[in-house]
Amino acid sequence: MNQTTRHVLVVGGGTAGSVLAARLSEIPTLSVTLLEAGPDHDAYDSVILEPVRATDAWAGAAPIAESMMATATGAIRTLQGRLLGGTSAVNGLATLRGLPPDYDAWAAAGLDGWGWDDVVDTFIAAERDVDFGSSAIHGSSGPLPVRRWRRDELSHAQRAYLDGMAEIGEPVVGDVNDPSQLPGIGVFPVTIDDAGQRVSTSLAYLTSEVRARENLAVRTNAEVATITVSGGRATGVTLVSGDHIDADEIIVAAGAIWSPTLLLRSGVGPAEQLTQHGITVHADLPVGATMSDHLGPGIPYHHAGPRGGAAGPAGVVLVGASNGIDVDYHAFPVAPPSGGDATVFMMSVFLLRSSGNGSVRLGDTPEADPIVTAPPLPDDAPDRLRHGFDRLVAWERSAAARALGCQQLMPLDLAAPDAVGVALERNTMSYGHMTSTCPMGSVLDADCRVLGVDGLRVVDASVMPTIPSGNTYLGCVMVAERVARKMKVAAH
Ligand SMILES: Cc1cc2nc3c(=O)[nH]c(=O)nc-3n(C[C@H](O)[C@H](O)[C@H](O)COP(=O)(O)OP(=O)(O)OC[C@H]3O[C@@H](n4cnc5c(N)ncnc54)[C@H](O)[C@@H]3O)c2cc1C
Repeated sequence: MNQTTRHVLVVGGGTAGSVLAARLSEIPTLSVTLLEAGPDHDAYDSVILEPVRATDAWAGAAPIAESMMATATGAIRTLQGRLLGGTSAVNGLATLRGLPPDYDAWAAAGLDGWGWDDVVDTFIAAERDVDFGSSAIHGSSGPLPVRRWRRDELSHAQRAYLDGMAEIGEPVVGDVNDPSQLPGIGVFPVTIDDAGQRVSTSLAYLTSEVRARENLAVRTNAEVATITVSGGRATGVTLVSGDHIDADEIIVAAGAIWSPTLLLRSGVGPAEQLTQHGITVHADLPVGATMSDHLGPGIPYHHAGPRGGAAGPAGVVLVGASNGIDVDYHAFPVAPPSGGDATVFMMSVFLLRSSGNGSVRLGDTPEADPIVTAPPLPDDAPDRLRHGFDRLVAWERSAAARALGCQQLMPLDLAAPDAVGVALERNTMSYGHMTSTCPMGSVLDADCRVLGVDGLRVVDASVMPTIPSGNTYLGCVMVAERVARKMKVAAH
């Protein structure tokens, strides 16, 4: 290590953390230590690697951290992967970017460098698109192998959904990541290799070649308890094991629930809340005071077996509906965890834009699990969701749905005026898309540096000022790539 080497700690080796560790260790003047609370990815087994088994992972067959999230209709379970690769190792593999207006709103709020024209290049550079190769909107040389499910890989339910929606007039699109083709229904792009196995960000970025770098140390089963802040600067971390590690810079990438929790435990957050817990306030910031997620009602269906196909739960998606209302729907063939009759699937309708008024707060004691509150649905949610229900009513009557013998299990007359309210009451689901708990603009600057604390950044789903109109994993990759690139430029 030469005299100018700076030691950077990345806390959390998840979706964003794996990208950061790989990219930052490309900078010769940095020494990078990645601290991940869970096990290494050499522990990956078929539950994680086979897309079709993702729902087994959600049922607890893979290392996950579970949080209870309060909603208007009762507490629901929400998950985060707790292993190298983080939630990208257990998620539904959907690989969507969100829509241009999402990011243009970030730039319009004063966050230079985060508009669609800025971020689209990063999305392109991160992918190796197996279907489209290099084009104006796709890349062929990034670390993430992306392709779309083939028709023969879809489950019977996913196929019936695609065909039924086409039958009732939704345009079928070949590329749901091409904004010019939307709105429409199409198969999900997914991040899988040639053998059809999941590629988490740790598998894509933390290759054995990268891990052999002398300036990169990856420590797994290393949970950080607190960050030490002294004289307005972050100076190191203390692990749950009691070890202390000094650093010149700390980047927190522990995800949208655990990053704010770690900051709060370390004295960075709303002064009133910290004082109540007897925690010294190092920076009075609205950490955890906002949170977004995609929430909506799930409608369970069943058909006569077999399930068919090898596609994961995110098979087919309708992005935006033909009348432009901001709903999208996912068909989820949810397999029971222990095998058996894997023909139950969930139709879900949710709003793409959330209020952001959820929160993460410390629990009864700083060490206790945090209190997570979902963003309440806006008052006009039932009207907006109604349109999605109307499409489902039409889909239920389509020849494709009837040919498969799809039967709703709730059962609920989706056409009834109160159907949306009843479905929300009975089965509100979180998509695990928690974001915006340490947003750029109020907690962080546009380079993801914590305001008022030197040497401390947050880089993961927490930093998004508003939730993108799509699944959130690829957005986390984009954020990590962009911050790493800025740090690389600054180091030269
Ligand atoms: C069930 C489910 C399905 C989903 N499906 C999709 C999908 O199909 N497509 C999509 O785009 N998005 C999906 N998402 C959401 C998406 O995967 C997440 O938004 C994204 O992966 C979050 O990335 P992150 O870097 O913010 O956090 P994570 O990937 O969760 O990484 C956080 C990491 O930090 C570690 N950590 C936490 N606390 C500490 C600590 N104190 N010390 C050290 N390490 C710590 C964790 O173990 C974890 O590895 C899904 C989410 C869930 C829950």
